[in-house]
Amino acid sequence: MKIVNIEAFPIRVKSDFDIGRKADTKNINTAMLEVKGLEKTKVNSTKKYNQVEKRNLEPKSLGNYETYIKDMGEYYVDEGSATSIYSKSHETTVVKIETETGIIGWGEAQSPVSPNTTATIIKDIVEPLTIGKDIYDVESIWHNNYSSKRERGHYTGFYIDAICGVDIAIWDAIGKSLNMPTCKAMGGAHRKSVALYNGIGGTEPEEVADQAEWSVSKGYKFVKMHLKESLEKDIEIARKVRERVGDSIGIMIDVHMGFDTFNVIKLGKELEKLNLLWIESPSDPTDIPGLCEISRSLDIPIANGEWTRTKYEMREIFEKRAYDISMPDIARTGLTGGKQIASIAQLYNIPVSPHVGGGGIVSVAATLQFSLNTPNFLIMEHSEQGHAVKAMILSEKFEAKNGEFKLSEKPGLGIEIDEDKLRKFQVSPSL
Ligand SMILES: [Mg+2]
Repeated sequence: MKIVNIEAFPIRVKSDFDIGRKADTKNINTAMLEVKGLEKTKVNSTKKYNQVEKRNLEPKSLGNYETYIKDMGEYYVDEGSATSIYSKSHETTVVKIETETGIIGWGEAQSPVSPNTTATIIKDIVEPLTIGKDIYDVESIWHNNYSSKRERGHYTGFYIDAICGVDIAIWDAIGKSLNMPTCKAMGGAHRKSVALYNGIGGTEPEEVADQAEWSVSKGYKFVKMHLKESLEKDIEIARKVRERVGDSIGIMIDVHMGFDTFNVIKLGKELEKLNLLWIESPSDPTDIPGLCEISRSLDIPIANGEWTRTKYEMREIFEKRAYDISMPDIARTGLTGGKQIASIAQLYNIPVSPHVGGGGIVSVAATLQFSLNTPNFLIMEHSEQGHAVKAMILSEKFEAKNGEFKLSEKPGLGIEIDEDKLRKFQVSPSL
């Protein structure tokens, strides 16, 4: 079944809360008004930034670094640290493929900053490479698209995101063409439901504990803190959260690469006493010997790898057992690449906990299919707070209940995109 058309939709949904972490229903409503065309683009996106900006006035240690926030308009970056550039909005690139029989497939290339870049790569390179190909050659398409830029050194980053957005759209079309959920077309469902953990924000102990408690009230049995504070403060916050939610709730911590080897081992030894489930992104991800030392020094598992996109990047990590839990991001690996990584992880008895982060609704739906299909799956990342904003481009309801997603009989990824709504969020015309 030939692919006859590919479109890329770079979108930006303004919201003044961190989509991965904080609840702010007032702003969800503002963004919804925008979809309905009831209000012109007049959205205050400065609240979260202002919270971060305050840190600029009082530089403090983030692991090894001091923080200096630079405002770049749509984006901001902490120049003093090794952490990421962030958007003040939800940004991503939604991909649509059309087959000769009229079947439409939807995909997403995660683009937390500059979705236009990903969309341009799709239009200029991936579309001409992929048009005319048979959707049932999906793995061969991934391989050929990957290989076409390997000699030039584009074996990760935006280029891989672009080919993986198309890969997910092809898998959606395959499921629809066979009238079955994509996980069945990928080889079958290993479970009937997928456990989720909720990502929470905040920088003060009481604030983070409030969000943890709120998550538990929504049915979550697992919560993950995103902490970029000092060593001492991270420990203080973790203690408060454990105290508040009790011993029956699983708690994870993501420290966003903020530490060196020595200090994260120090942090881990304290967190072991609180019985946390994992420490995520402990340090510089390119320092594989350092990651091995961290893993060997601590009893608490290390979860890592949201930025690695292909099996080729994973070989040394698995061979050296550099960490305990692998975290492929499906909107960066594609379903094809994610399945390859999970299969190799299984050889090393390493569980897989897919990263979603700021990924949009197609990313969530594709990650659900991946989680259903993966035998060594552990738990999937989710944002209860961010879901409503992500879901604004859907034509019908798709949401988690009581901290889990259920296997549905809907074909493909199990969601339908409302193209009119999607176009309202485009940062420029679709390419
Ligand atoms: Mg992370």
